[in-house]
Amino acid sequence: MSLTQIPDTAQRNEAEECDKADPFVHLRRRFDLPGGLIYLDGNSLGALPRGVAVRMGEVIRHEWGDRLIDGWWNGWLDLPHQTGARIAPLIGAPQNSVLAADSTSINLFKLAASALSARPDRHVILSEVGNFPTDMYIMEGLTKLTGRDISVREVAPGAILDALDDTVALLTLSHIDYRTARMWDMAAINAACHATGALCLWDLSHSAGAVLVDLTATNADMAVGCGYKFLNGGPGAPAFLYVRPDLQDSLDSPLQGWMGHQDPFAFSGTYKPKSGIGRFACGTPPILGLSALNEALKVFDDIDLPALFAKGQDLCDRFIETVVGTDGLTILSPRDRAVRGSHVAVAHQNAEAIMKRLSSQGVIGDFRPPDIMRFGFSPLYCRHVDAHDAAILLRDAVMESEASLQD
Ligand SMILES: *Cc1c(COP(=O)(O)O)cnc(C)c1O
Repeated sequence: MSLTQIPDTAQRNEAEECDKADPFVHLRRRFDLPGGLIYLDGNSLGALPRGVAVRMGEVIRHEWGDRLIDGWWNGWLDLPHQTGARIAPLIGAPQNSVLAADSTSINLFKLAASALSARPDRHVILSEVGNFPTDMYIMEGLTKLTGRDISVREVAPGAILDALDDTVALLTLSHIDYRTARMWDMAAINAACHATGALCLWDLSHSAGAVLVDLTATNADMAVGCGYKFLNGGPGAPAFLYVRPDLQDSLDSPLQGWMGHQDPFAFSGTYKPKSGIGRFACGTPPILGLSALNEALKVFDDIDLPALFAKGQDLCDRFIETVVGTDGLTILSPRDRAVRGSHVAVAHQNAEAIMKRLSSQGVIGDFRPPDIMRFGFSPLYCRHVDAHDAAILLRDAVMESEASLQD
């Protein structure tokens, strides 16, 4: 069965009507999507915005090719800040508080290390069981470097609040769980941290560009996130970091590279960190990658973000409602959209084979061992009809798989 053979039901017609009425449907044309595909993996690698391909040509030919070293004095040095300023409104951050830099892993390291130094009499890094692996690998590696007796404590999500006490220097959590899409109550967690004196570091990799985040209103301390998922910055795009303005100058990056120096081009023999978010920069910024991310973020310009993210939730709801009740299929994501990101996770014992079949039919999601299938719904380029068709194909694949399991 190919995509064109999805039955023309009343349900499918209704999805088509929703697409016709969708105020964001024009945004899909700003992406270069291969034909015949339903791309539901933008939570892992965002699609290519058309403007990025054009912009990369300009940057390479004119900025690099023609300007050569003068490029540094014509915008390149400021690009980490400019790109950060485009991310800021997506995460409720004030200007001059977001820097696009390094990878998410490295930004986790820099901010977690700075938090440990700021809490010298505390010895626990707290997190939840099942946090994204790189986050925990980074924390464990960090404990070996501090010269202090720091331990990493991972507790069940429901036990976080009880585990927050005056031994905890840092709590680090992923705002949206990469598997289930479950969302933390950021305001409540921040308040609990502040009540005990711990710092809190959020990983927004599955949140930025997918759900409303308000770091200011929730009084968040620090955050990091990914540039290549819902922000569409391209494979290995620079990540971002946030530090609340009043905290910035009280925290010191452990990676004292020259780009965090007050005056990198004085070539001074002593390190003096910049004031502000720039102190969390390290080495020379990757201009090609930053240019792509900066251009990709323009798709979010002048957009009603609450309405855009509500569309993503509508797509997730439609997908869930279409597959719910299929024998053998478990829905892992919350049904309540208020506590769910913009992807849906389901489980089935034949998940790997089912994802292969869907992929051969043009539906691209992903498989996470042992039995999880994830489907990401970017509200920028996914349509209601995509959510419907993918759900029908998933339901059919599960039903066939169940029938063969019973043979
Ligand atoms: C994708 C993701 C990362 C990726 O980190 P990199 O350093 O870019 O490889 C980190 N944390 C979370 C929660 C993620 O979802």
